[in-house]
Amino acid sequence: MALSGKTALITGSTSGIGLGIADVLARNGADVILNGFGDWQTAAEQLSRHGGRVGYHPADLSQAEQIEALFDYARREFGRVDILVNNAGIQHVAPVESFPVERWDSIIALNLSAVFHCTRLALPDMQAQDWGRIINIASVHGSVGSTGKAAYVAAKHGVLGLTKVVALETAQSGVTCNSICPGWVLTPLVQQQIDARVAAGETPEQARSALLAEKQPSQAFVTAEQLGELALFLCSAAAQQVRGAAWNIDGGWLAQ
Ligand code: NAD
Repeated sequence: MALSGKTALITGSTSGIGLGIADVLARNGADVILNGFGDWQTAAEQLSRHGGRVGYHPADLSQAEQIEALFDYARREFGRVDILVNNAGIQHVAPVESFPVERWDSIIALNLSAVFHCTRLALPDMQAQDWGRIINIASVHGSVGSTGKAAYVAAKHGVLGLTKVVALETAQSGVTCNSICPGWVLTPLVQQQIDARVAAGETPEQARSALLAEKQPSQAFVTAEQLGELALFLCSAAAQQVRGAAWNIDGGWLAQ
C-alpha cells in the first residue's frame, strides 16, 4: 500500500476533518497517531480496522510544552513522524470590537502557533531521512475574510505564509509543505455556526442552506473523505514538486 511503513501524525483527529484524513491515510497503509479532545477510543477502533498501528496522545496544542510531549511520544512509540497533518483548529465568531481577548489568544495559539511548533519539531527527522510531508489544513479564510472571524482569518492567513516559508526552506529536499484550503465542511466546528443560526430562529435546513448560499457556489459541503484523498495525493511521489501551495477545495468559494 502507498503509505506502508510511514507514520502520520494528524492533530485534532478525534472528529471532523482530522478523523477523515486519518482514516484515508490509515486505509492506505500508514500507522497513525491521533490527537484531540474527542472520543479517541472510538476513532482508534475505527482506524485499527485498516490493519496498521494506531496511537493517541492527548496534548493540548495551545501549550508548546505539551506539543513537545506529543513529539516525544511519537518518537518513543513510532520512531519518527513521516507525515504531519496540522489540522487542529477552533473558531469563534464576534465583531472585532467585542471579540473576547482570551478567544483571540487561544485561536492564535492553536490555529497558528501550534502549526509552527509541530513543524519545527517534525522537520529534523524528516530532513535526516530526506523525506517528509507537512500538510496544513488552512481554509479559504487563509485567502479571504468573512465578518466576525478576525482571529480565525488572521491565523489562517498566517498559516499560508508559514507554509510558503517552510516550503522554501525545504525546497531542495524530499520534504514538502503545502496547505489545503477547504470551504464549508459539515463538522462539529461548522455545526456550532448552524446551531447559532437555529438559536436565532432559522430551521436547521434553512441554516445549512443559508451558509452554503452565502459562500459556496456548488451548494454542497466538501467532505472529510475528499480532503483525505487530497492529502493522500500530497503524500504521493507525483506531488514531490508541489511546494508551498494553497490548494483550494471549496465548491468554488474562491472563484468568485
Ligand atoms: P472539529 O471541531 O470537528 O475538530 C477539531 C479537532 O481539534 C477535534 O479533534 C478537537 O478535539 C481538536 N482540538 C480542539 N482544540 C484542541 C487543542 N487545544 N489541542 C488539540 N486538539 C484540539 O473541526 P473541523 O471542522 O474538523 O476542523 C479541522 C480543521 O479544519 C481546523 O483547522 C479548521 O479551521 C479547518 N477547516 C474547517 C472547515 C469546516 O468547514 N469545517 C473549513 C475550513 C477549514
